[in-house]
Amino acid sequence: MRTEGLSINLATVREQFNLREAVEACARLGISAIDPWRDQVQKQGIDESAKIIKAHGMRVTGLCRGGFFTAADDKGRQTAIDDNKRALDEAAAIGAECLVLVVGGLPQGSRDIAEARDMVASGIDACRAHAKAVGVPLAIEPLHPMYAADRACVNTLGHALDMCEQLGPDVGVVIDVYHLWWDPNFEDDIARAGRGKRILAHHICDWLVPTRDMLLDRGMMGDGVIDLKRVRRAIEAAGYDGPQEVEILSSAWWAKPGDEVIKTCIERYNTVC
Ligand code: ZN
Repeated sequence: MRTEGLSINLATVREQFNLREAVEACARLGISAIDPWRDQVQKQGIDESAKIIKAHGMRVTGLCRGGFFTAADDKGRQTAIDDNKRALDEAAAIGAECLVLVVGGLPQGSRDIAEARDMVASGIDACRAHAKAVGVPLAIEPLHPMYAADRACVNTLGHALDMCEQLGPDVGVVIDVYHLWWDPNFEDDIARAGRGKRILAHHICDWLVPTRDMLLDRGMMGDGVIDLKRVRRAIEAAGYDGPQEVEILSSAWWAKPGDEVIKTCIERYNTVC
């Protein structure tokens, strides 16, 4: 079965494998692209992770994740900016093609989402020079609006693109079907993202009906209601030909053997994506 053009976001097997085991499993099953999470890289050690990834010839379609720029005071916001600069260094060390940003929700005690969005824009702006210096672009990942309060106050692709345009040419977006499939402007905004050369990654999974948990019940491709082929066609028509990256945060899939999960990703990639 085809594995070219498929990347595995290592959160998908985070309960089964550490970074080394995950990379080895991917390599064993013919996968040549991954996107690790920062805690996985840190646990393995940054230099060691870089070595493991290189030794297996893995393309790194991103590092998850930076962001969380919103905070109640200046000190908190500066801490976030400093941490994002370290995340950029880590991304550069492992050869990641972008740093995925989950931008942050409302600061503690706040009801001002417009202010939170301004904090996000200025936080990203403060990291742009560092991103350029280390050669890792910043990728805003708009999240489903159910996460607006606690994870990300950028919730549509259109809003993320507005922010990119405000910031400059060196900031892009991650298009994750789980967060964006419902938006009536989704396909128009994919085309707009293509025109602006903003598409840095394409995450896939599926939306289950019913979804039983806001965070840990993402579906395997084909088990839900997202028209993945249609989205991919729109993304390719917009000029993006990078991998489709499977990112499934799911207590159900975490309970299965890691190899079985990756094999299922490959099978569904070949049949429904
Ligand atoms: Zn994602």
